[in-house]
Amino acid sequence: MIEIPYIEGDGIGPEIFNAMKKVIDFAFEKTYNDKIKWIELLAGQKALNTTGELLPQNTIEAIKRYKTAIKGPLMTPVGSGYRSLNVTLRQVLDLYACIRPVKYVPGVPSPLKNPEKVDIIVFRENTEDVYAGIEWEAGSKEAERTREYLKEKFGISLREDTGIGLKPISKFASQRIVKKAVEYALKNNRKKITIVHKGNIMKYTEGAFRKWAYEIIEEKLKDEIDGKIEINDIITDNMFQQIILHPENYDVIVTTNLNGDYLSDATAALIGGIGLTAGVNMSDKVAVFEPVHGTAPDIAGKGLANPTAMILAGSMLLEYLGFGEAQEVIIAALKRVLESGKVTKDLALLMGREKYLSTGEFSEKILEAIEKDTV
Ligand code: NAP
Repeated sequence: MIEIPYIEGDGIGPEIFNAMKKVIDFAFEKTYNDKIKWIELLAGQKALNTTGELLPQNTIEAIKRYKTAIKGPLMTPVGSGYRSLNVTLRQVLDLYACIRPVKYVPGVPSPLKNPEKVDIIVFRENTEDVYAGIEWEAGSKEAERTREYLKEKFGISLREDTGIGLKPISKFASQRIVKKAVEYALKNNRKKITIVHKGNIMKYTEGAFRKWAYEIIEEKLKDEIDGKIEINDIITDNMFQQIILHPENYDVIVTTNLNGDYLSDATAALIGGIGLTAGVNMSDKVAVFEPVHGTAPDIAGKGLANPTAMILAGSMLLEYLGFGEAQEVIIAALKRVLESGKVTKDLALLMGREKYLSTGEFSEKILEAIEKDTV
């Protein structure tokens, strides 16, 4: 018996969690003749209703203890209210690397002519940048003081009604994510790493990220990667057109937090959207797996959610725990179901099909495919 701690998530979280759990349980039992004990950890609305807190300390301590977890999406209101629970989790657990593999699954509708060329892994720095949460509302005491300080010390004038945010990028955080990407590329036989930055404009943050990336590669990693991995860099805006025009030129991408956030969704769109992409947020000690998409409140509770990304997150977790065989079983079954066109509404619409399966029916199809090796 293995134990897997989980956070169900808000919105479509419970639906996609249940679908994922069924598939993971079934594949695990069939492959290893063993069971999974799921340990629920509270966060988000469910935690608020039960404990009065959105992110109880118990949950954080449990993730530290178990060292791995899987989570559904958690809701963050725009503009006001509490800080993002996802960002908080990443910061308190120092989950500095957000790693998102984006690989085409045959049969899934894609806006590209040759989507099979997409096989990209995005490494996003997860703790700094404008995500650090250092920002002040226009007119607040803090914004006023910062404005005055900038005027007095540096002669910089900002309009009175300016909201202010900081973009911290450190050498330490930049180099540890680059090191992580290089280690991954070496271990997984990947051939190219592209550093993505907007250093032409933000010279001492994004430009410094690029500089520090090359520096650590040159000073500490050169011998290991020589002849094995090609390193290059590209400015973010160009990257967005290049991944659409020539996705085959990209392999491992390493970048800052905001670039990484945008690029993850954009690369996901190339293979059918965020309903099909999962990732992991990890430190050197802890790994938290999740789908890339959010809580999709417009379809929550209607049985319309596509659980694929959540199932992929579960299968990545199994692989991480050393159960790669079960991951292969799941991916093979998932591919067969997606290829068959028996899919949830989001994909059916893209495929021009009128009929579609509910979240639960889709997961049943995957169980069938695992059981019979067919759909
Ligand atoms: P979103 O929840 O990802 O949803 C955007 C749209 O994508 C949905 O309205 C839905 O489109 C479609 N979609 C997403 N996941 C789907 C799935 N599994 N199956 C089918 N369709 C899916 O993004 P959002 O509306 O910007 O964010 C909503 C909330 O989620 C926010 O509070 C945000 O902060 C949070 N969020 C959390 C995470 C996380 O926990 N890691 C990540 C991103 C966002 P249709 O309109 O076509 O149905």
